[in-house]
Amino acid sequence: MKGVSIRMKQNQSSASTSPNATGFSPGFASLGLEAPLLTTLETLGYEEPTPIQREAIPPLLAGRDLLGQAATGTGKTAAFALPLLQQLGHGITARPATLVLVPTRELAIQVGEAVQRYGKELRTSVLTLYGGQPFGPQLYALKRGVDVVVATPGRALDHIRRGTLRLQAVKLVVLDEADEMLDMGFADDLDAILEQTPKTRQTALFSATMPPRIRSIAHRHLRNPVEITIAKEPVKAGTTPRVQQTAYIVARSHRGAALARVIEMADAKSALVFCRTRLEVDDVTTMLIGRGQRAEAIHGGMSQGQRDRVMQAFKSGQTSLLVATDVAARGLDIPHVSHVINYDLPASAEVYVHRIGRTGRAGREGTAITILDPREQRLLRSIEQHTKARVNVLPIPSVADLRAKQLDRLQGAVVETLQQGGLEVCRQLVERLSSHTAVDVAAAALKLLVRAQGGERTEQEIPGIPVRPPDTRRPMQDGVRTGGRPQRGSAGAERRPTGRPLDAGRRAGMARVYVGAGQAAGIRPGDLVGAIANEAKINSAMIGAIEIEERFSIVDVPEALAPRIIQLLGRARIKGRKVPVRIFHE
Ligand code: AMP
Repeated sequence: MKGVSIRMKQNQSSASTSPNATGFSPGFASLGLEAPLLTTLETLGYEEPTPIQREAIPPLLAGRDLLGQAATGTGKTAAFALPLLQQLGHGITARPATLVLVPTRELAIQVGEAVQRYGKELRTSVLTLYGGQPFGPQLYALKRGVDVVVATPGRALDHIRRGTLRLQAVKLVVLDEADEMLDMGFADDLDAILEQTPKTRQTALFSATMPPRIRSIAHRHLRNPVEITIAKEPVKAGTTPRVQQTAYIVARSHRGAALARVIEMADAKSALVFCRTRLEVDDVTTMLIGRGQRAEAIHGGMSQGQRDRVMQAFKSGQTSLLVATDVAARGLDIPHVSHVINYDLPASAEVYVHRIGRTGRAGREGTAITILDPREQRLLRSIEQHTKARVNVLPIPSVADLRAKQLDRLQGAVVETLQQGGLEVCRQLVERLSSHTAVDVAAAALKLLVRAQGGERTEQEIPGIPVRPPDTRRPMQDGVRTGGRPQRGSAGAERRPTGRPLDAGRRAGMARVYVGAGQAAGIRPGDLVGAIANEAKINSAMIGAIEIEERFSIVDVPEALAPRIIQLLGRARIKGRKVPVRIFHE
């Protein structure tokens, strides 16, 4: 594979990419995208392309193969979806013309929805195929014909073998999160699927990492690809502001609630809240105002007069939260702020540094807070590497934390008011209530105050997501949701005669070890017990519960022995082949 290498230029010049008077972003138009897609991007509130989009869209539109290093959160879905949609719009009639392969059911749904969203104006039909879905509706849709199939490899292969998915007409194949697909043992499936597609097809491969096995698959299936890598150089020394950085990981559905919670806890005097799109800016502002915050929106879709008014309100302290897109904030003279809050992790380290540079200026204390989706943890790690700064991942504050904070704040306000004096009128009122104790009267008055400030609102706990350590991947497969545990008790799950049901959680002192082979490879509990006992020379009675799923297994072993077991098992052969073995983090 001989490729053309492009380093991503992460500097984003504001002058050339700010939206023009029509609201269209010349950034997207200059990449060669045509009117229907530009209209869709405008409707979605995208103000400018992300670095991966800037680099990937032109070669993909030109028909080149592409090898792109990009994690979730960088905007890679649009980077391949927009060119594929434009090509489909140019009179390709044979179907399906595009196949997108993704590792998990969740990603299949997410990518399918994104392609549908971007292809709205073009009326592109998209079908999502993944394991666990009934075949009936899939067969019907395949028979009728669809433009784009988004599938997990296992289910795609099922359909190919049944003769229900025919790939002779495919013009473009996208392999998304290829490292994750290989990790899950889909290498052979990918080869088998690609074999069914025409040699003349265009192929794009995206992967968060570029180990040799990805290069090897690229070598086999890509022709003279354009190669795009996120610049590896760290951000220049001294350019990262000295700011305390924190992140909270929550599922997408809880992001709004998490943002509101974090803002309440932060006690921010003046904060900039960054969102990726105009739509998000508007939605977040409305949500925050609804929760009693003094928030204002600023983005490229607003007139100059509106923006000036908002800036004036923020500078004078009338507004404490300014919710902005990167483009809008870039051109503004924003004074020092106490907090920068990323409602979305930005698509590159450069933008992240630019954002957090708004706080912690001139030796003052600053705080940067990021809310992120579980799938974006890899991007967070890459930002940490580039900026050489640590981001502390903390659990989302609980309802009890919030109440305690509210009471603290109330206590502080009462003490301050006592110190300021001038209480005569109110004291007379307390005297009129002399049939009650002074403590009861004060408590009732405080209750009124809490209610007036919205503090009696019913709050829900926001579920936390376990942090994924830098070097491990959570195993996922068809039928296993991201962020969830492997489905216990599913067809492949086995139970050892320990008497402990598999869903009883991990025993104290035991670690869970992931073995990258499962039912599909003919693995049975005895194979794993045998391999562990033989290789690590431990008594098989020390091995705990074993779950065998379709493509991987999880074995409970004593924590103290886990590193040795992982090392030795990783070198051994199980059922005649080497398989990945590592700690399983849920
Ligand atoms: P992805 O990395 O493809 O999962 O995208 C991450 C998120 O970024 C998604 O929510 C997209 O809607 C959003 N996004 C992608 N491209 C842009 C863009 N150019 N401007 C604003 N948001 C974007």
